[in-house]
Amino acid sequence: SGLVVAMDGPSGSGKSSASRGVARALGLRYLDTGAMYRAVTWWMLRRDVDVADAAAVAALAGEPVLALSTDPDAPGITVDGVDVSGPIRGAEVTGSVSAVSAVPEVRTRLVDLQRQIIAESLPGGGIVVEGRDIGTVVAPDAPVKVFLTASAEARAHRRTAELTGTSVEAQRAAMARRDTLDSTRATDPLAKAADAVELDTTPLDLDEVIAEVLRLVKE
Ligand code: C5P
Repeated sequence: SGLVVAMDGPSGSGKSSASRGVARALGLRYLDTGAMYRAVTWWMLRRDVDVADAAAVAALAGEPVLALSTDPDAPGITVDGVDVSGPIRGAEVTGSVSAVSAVPEVRTRLVDLQRQIIAESLPGGGIVVEGRDIGTVVAPDAPVKVFLTASAEARAHRRTAELTGTSVEAQRAAMARRDTLDSTRATDPLAKAADAVELDTTPLDLDEVIAEVLRLVKE
């Protein structure tokens, strides 16, 4: 037993804060799969890998050693022992993560790791997992699946608050670019599972989003 809550949606839909809040409220673990793709991207850039070269990224996909905290009050991630929790939110990683996460070898490796982390959480009660493909690929059997959406305006504002060194305008442009990159590549991970509940967070504040997800969990 143990509960898995899948929280999917585009960047800026309010996934991260809502997922942490739900995990905290239910005493569950928390997994940010976007942070894993970002950490692998950070590692590739650090190694001077040309991220546009899918074969080069694929060849090294097995190398970076990731370690994560699944504490919703203190999430964090290291690569090869280096804490990259801050750097993975920077513009450099954000600009390259679509290319790295499009590489099948990267996805296979990270999905495996994500399933391991989920399995390890179950004896303790379970986990809230946020990403793009949790309800469809990573945890298709999750009993609770939420697909968060928000207007482009609301997403740009939230994203600006989350990231360092950016403005709402710059962020609106960067997000539009990344959405296009994510959605036009051969393997766009973002998909709403047939059995996911769609939740438009545009008019809701954080507590309202959390309350709505908790209501779905209790159903
Ligand atoms: O959620 P976040 O914006 O941090 O995710 C960063 C990037 O990682 C996304 O733009 C997407 O390219 C990739 N990603 C993914 N699959 C996931 C989570 C994130 O491909 N499950």
